[in-house]
Amino acid sequence: MNKNAVMALDAQYYLPVFARYPIVLERGEGPYVYDNEGKKYLDFLAGIAVNLLGHGHPGLVKAVAEQAGKLIHCSNLYYTEVQATLVQKLAQRSGLERVFIANSGAEANEGAMKLARKYGKLQSESKVEIITAQHSFHGRTLATLTATAQEKYQKGYEPLPQGFSHVPFGDLAAMEAAVSAKTCAVLLEPIQGEGGVHVPPAGYLKAVRELCDKHGALLIFDEIQTGVGRTGTFFAYEQEGITPDIVTLAKGLAGGVPIGAFLAKEEVAQVFHAGDHGSTFGGNPLACAAALAVLEAMEQENLLDNANNLGQLLQDKLRQLAQKYPGIITTVRGRGLIVGAELAGQGRGIVEACLEKGIIINCTAGNVLRFVPPLNITAAHIEEVIAVLDSVLKEHGAF
Ligand SMILES: *Cc1c(COP(=O)(O)O)cnc(C)c1O
Repeated sequence: MNKNAVMALDAQYYLPVFARYPIVLERGEGPYVYDNEGKKYLDFLAGIAVNLLGHGHPGLVKAVAEQAGKLIHCSNLYYTEVQATLVQKLAQRSGLERVFIANSGAEANEGAMKLARKYGKLQSESKVEIITAQHSFHGRTLATLTATAQEKYQKGYEPLPQGFSHVPFGDLAAMEAAVSAKTCAVLLEPIQGEGGVHVPPAGYLKAVRELCDKHGALLIFDEIQTGVGRTGTFFAYEQEGITPDIVTLAKGLAGGVPIGAFLAKEEVAQVFHAGDHGSTFGGNPLACAAALAVLEAMEQENLLDNANNLGQLLQDKLRQLAQKYPGIITTVRGRGLIVGAELAGQGRGIVEACLEKGIIINCTAGNVLRFVPPLNITAAHIEEVIAVLDSVLKEHGAF
């Protein structure tokens, strides 16, 4: 099928919810993807922070193919070795004792909030409130879009679930004023992704941890975007010297095979009993085998070090561009390989111009260019992206 035929089918039949770019992707190799006209793109978005190992990683492909040949799915009525091994590894890495595997980020957050509600209610009927941050992103289900404190995701879906309130991200005084005996959980991204790559002030997350302890509230970190090595440690919270009560993962965990997970402290997890939560697909052997292959590659290929080193290089290079084009790029921020470059104007034009020149990046929150490449890129790939961005900014100026 040619490009126009594919786009016509989508236009006729797909629910019109995506503002897609006009390319039809067909295959990928390493950090590159190819469209169905043979054009090559360097992929610095990685399926929105998902393809941690890039495309066609031999270890991941082999694990998925072998598992598909053995058993794709069997339901959670039975045990599988891959699932048992995966939850062991995630528990050992996190310092949290219990794991539930879901299929997506939103589902992981739903499960985490259900657990927090149940835990809170056992202490007091009114301990049900969940505090989240403005400009957060937690998913598209009714409860997760309510947790997502952005009106554009909520409008039209009222009535929304009750018991949510929102505070400015990084503002400790606002959090202190909001947390009370009625708070069952505070849910935060350690670094806000969709909201514009916002890194909170040093010490903020640790202070929120202490505040939660003081009020008997659970601290939930949504590490769906930051987790699995993206920030240079397996979990972003490791760099804060704290542990949450619950953490959620999804995007990169299985390198592109749909998966989500929430991990909880034993004491919290114990409030769930047989039948309290579940999933048909969640934790199926195909997804678990993929996740195990991702964890294995991260260790074998030192991807945490790579995320640290190349994240630093990417930020340095972007800062040089910001100096060269001070009227266009105003701030560069991030950690490891989640990096944002805030623009004085809108970013979609720059993203489109880069795409034209064979570079896939993304713009989030309207004016923040977001770079979330595979963790196994090299310095040469960064040079390639920076050279194209430089030429786009030179030719077009601001958009
Ligand atoms: C992407 C994302 C989600 C939602 O994940 P889905 O798999 O799209 O449901 C939730 N939280 C964060 C921080 C995310 O980046």
